[in-house]
This record gives sequence, C-alpha cells and structure tokens, in this order.
Amino acid sequence: MSKKVLVTAGGSGIGFAMCEAFANEGADVWAVDIDNDALANCPETWRRTALDVTDESAVKKLFVELTKTWGTIDCLCANAGIAGPTALIEDIDLAQWQRCVSVNLEGGFLFCKYAVPLMKQAGSGNIILTSSTAGLFGYPNRAPYCAAKWGVIGLCKTLAMELGPFGIRANAICPGSVEGERMQGVLEREALAKNVTEQSLYDGYASGTSMGKWVTAADVAATATYLASEHSRMVSGQVIAVDGHTVNPDP
Ligand code: NAD
Repeated sequence: MSKKVLVTAGGSGIGFAMCEAFANEGADVWAVDIDNDALANCPETWRRTALDVTDESAVKKLFVELTKTWGTIDCLCANAGIAGPTALIEDIDLAQWQRCVSVNLEGGFLFCKYAVPLMKQAGSGNIILTSSTAGLFGYPNRAPYCAAKWGVIGLCKTLAMELGPFGIRANAICPGSVEGERMQGVLEREALAKNVTEQSLYDGYASGTSMGKWVTAADVAATATYLASEHSRMVSGQVIAVDGHTVNPDP
C-alpha cells in the first residue's frame, strides 16, 4: 500500500517540494495550507485542505476526514512556519510575537497531537518537523522566530522519547537560507533593519556557510523523504541541518 503523507504549508516553497518528492516516490499526499489559491495550483492528484494550522477545531476536523479517507497516516511533515517580524526586541508587538510562535510551534504541536493516536494504532510512523538554522543559532532581529524554532527542536526531542517505544520516529530538519520568495521578503526587511543592501545580505548568507551557497527546497525535501524511509529506520530524535554547514549565522 502506498505511503500516506500529510504536509503542512504544502501549497508552496519547501512544503510543496516535500509533497512533490513524496508523490514522485508513489506516496499519497495531503497538502494543507492557509492559502486556497496556492492549493488550487497544486496537482489534482494531491488531497488538499485549506486551514490555518493554529486552528485546533479545523485540525481536528481534518483528522476526522483523514481517518475516514486514509484510515491512517505514515508520515507527518509539520512544516508550516512564518518568518515573523524583523525587528529588535523592544520594537516587537506582543501580537506579532504570539502569531509567529503560534504558527511555527503550536501548529506543529496540534498536528502531532492528532496524528500520534493514528500512528500509535499502526505501531509505526514518522514525524518530521521543520525547524531552521534559527533553531540552532541566534539571529539578531528575529527573536520570536528563533524562539519558536528552538522550541520545535524541544518538541522533536520530547516526541522521540515519548514515541520511540511505539515504533514512531520524530526528527527535525533545519534548513539554511532557501532560494525562493520567502527569503526574498526576509532579505528586504533585513536590509532595511540593518541599512545594508539585499545583495550583500544574500552573499553574506552564502559565505556564512562552508559550502558557500544557498539551499534549494528540493534539498530539504530529499532529507524529508530519507527520514520517512527505511534507510533511516534507526534515526530518531535527530536535528539535521540542511544548510551547507553554517559557520557564521550573521555574517
Ligand atoms: P513559504 O513562505 O514559501 O511557504 C509557506 C507556506 O505556508 C505558504 O504556502 C503559506 O500560505 C503557508 N502558511 C503560512 N501560514 C500558515 C498557517 N497559519 N497555516 C497553514 N499554512 C500557512 O515558506 P517556506 O520557505 O517554504 O518555509 C517552510 C518552512 O521552512 C517554515 O517552517 C519555515 O520557517 C522553514 N524554513 C524556511 C527557510 C527558508 O529559507 N525559506 C529556512 C529555514 C526554515
């Protein structure tokens, strides 16, 4: 039977690449995203649901539908995240902080909460959480995002301990700077905050890695398919950076 994989924020960027990579391996894919238009542009062969990952009643409803449709779930990619504000701590509103932490961290919590009982029933499963290099280092001007992404790693470590006895693995991926629209926005905001050019920041993020280049969404997706495969059957509780090896996070 084909693998059943649910990806949050599957409508674009890294989540879309994850859905594509799993679908190319023959998996049944369920993409969840807040953006209806993004989902409408996804292949029709994917199941698609528009919801906000922080809305517990919507997540609960989705899992009722998923249970009826699939009966189980083999892999959850809790990938949704927003960049949040680019500002010094004293300039961040509580509402901005809360929204950033909520999407990045509580969204992952909610999907794990509803996926785990199905995985326990099956006696197997894989949870892949998307953290960030911002969950490994500090990044000036990105307090809520960093705090949330460090939190995602704490969630991963805890889930691995709780779920290992049930045959369920949990791992976190920490992408570095990924080529695409999202980082374009981050560069624009950071250039303003630091009063430097976007190009110098772009080059800096590359030169801050030992491999000297940016990551692609496909690089991250390839790590997700590995983590959901038998090749990694004894890998759990791990935090895997897909970042070209960050040596200086704030060059
Ligand atoms: P993206 O902005 O390209 O795509 C994010 C998707 O998430 C969008 O389709 C958006 O509609 C959806 N989304 C936003 N808020 C949502 C919500 N509340 N509920 C459901 N869907 C929502 O982002 P991306 O670059 O693909 O990032 C994916 C993950 O990777 C995030 O967790 C992000 O923090 C992490 N990450 C990204 C980078 C990078 O450089 N792009 C680096 C490290 C980590």
